[in-house]
Amino acid sequence: MSEFDTKLVHGKPENDNQTGAVNVPIYNSSTYIYPSADAKVKFDYERSGNPTRNYLENQLAILENGVQGFAFSSGSAAIHAVLSIFSPGDHLIISKTIYGGTFRIINDFFKRWQLEFTAVDTQDIAAVKAAIQPNTKAIYFETFSNPLLHVTSVKAVAQLAKQFDILTIVDNTFLTPYLQQPLNLGADIVVHSATKYLGGHSDVVAGVAVAKDQKIADKIYFNQNSIGATLSPEDCSLIRRGIQTLAVRMDRHLSNAKKVVQFLAKRPEIARIYYPGIAGSRDHEIASQETNGYGGIISFELKPGIDSTEFVDNLHLIQLAVSLGAVESLIELPYKMTHAELSRKEQLKAGITHQLIRLSVGIEDPNDLIADLSQSLNQVSERQRVVN
Ligand SMILES: *Cc1c(COP(=O)(O)O)cnc(C)c1O
Repeated sequence: MSEFDTKLVHGKPENDNQTGAVNVPIYNSSTYIYPSADAKVKFDYERSGNPTRNYLENQLAILENGVQGFAFSSGSAAIHAVLSIFSPGDHLIISKTIYGGTFRIINDFFKRWQLEFTAVDTQDIAAVKAAIQPNTKAIYFETFSNPLLHVTSVKAVAQLAKQFDILTIVDNTFLTPYLQQPLNLGADIVVHSATKYLGGHSDVVAGVAVAKDQKIADKIYFNQNSIGATLSPEDCSLIRRGIQTLAVRMDRHLSNAKKVVQFLAKRPEIARIYYPGIAGSRDHEIASQETNGYGGIISFELKPGIDSTEFVDNLHLIQLAVSLGAVESLIELPYKMTHAELSRKEQLKAGITHQLIRLSVGIEDPNDLIADLSQSLNQVSERQRVVN
């Protein structure tokens, strides 16, 4: 069997064309011919299946080591389809710090459909255990939380969940299968916003799910086909292409992130850096045991008195935008941008201060990134001196 990096480039061939094309074609066909009315056809209608999507879904299943993959029109659609396998009255334990959009689907949508939820710190296994009820059906979390990169052990949660016959669902967006394969650590379902690292170029919104076991896969397939938020063939092709360069991109994200952290650690304007690669925390310990790298996202706090808005506004190369995981570096102020929906009190409870910055480190030359951060830090600290 090929090594992982080879699998990224070469998926399972569709053997569907006579032209010798090295890539699976983009099949823009909503419907497919039956050779006869009694024929059993592989494809009949695009929502149910499409060869371009099929290629991508097989590739995802191989990379995450599951039985079946699914491609959706967004990460949110993938999460919606996965959570829709549960029934009214089922209880789910969720991590306290999940993606805001996921929290919104849970709180404003699934609660109306009588799913019950308890939010806990999933790093604290005793707390997870204490939250288990007779009707608990799943535990849902992100291995690296957003924006503070708090790390949950997939192994520890899955081990506990198995004892109680509960499913473990992991949002693997921040790590990708290159850095962690949750199904190999005991999880049952993996979801991704493929908009981020899998696509990798900020040009497509997509989501994926992969199931470990066929019974669960059948339920997700039912939801994918019946709810219908499938990924278009063009977008499937873009994600397929993104995945082919995942290893080389992630290696550069990792080495750049490490250099940026080293730079920030030396700057007097920085009060605190959140990055699981920094030794001395439980987050670092878990990440070291269960991942092949600490990711490309860094959060940090500017010292009090330094104007965080001015700092991000003064950057020239690093772009001020939400989203993450693409080739270009993106920076944002969680309290004003990604986490603006939370009240001030909720933000502070989640550790989101006005000084907190989230940086998605791209694959540019690290010296240019550091020079940009440096010139903006110089400006804001100079301004602070003048004001004082
Ligand atoms: C972006 C994101 C999502 C939502 O995905 P969309 O593609 O934007 O719908 C879910 N989980 C995480 C961790 C994300 O970063």
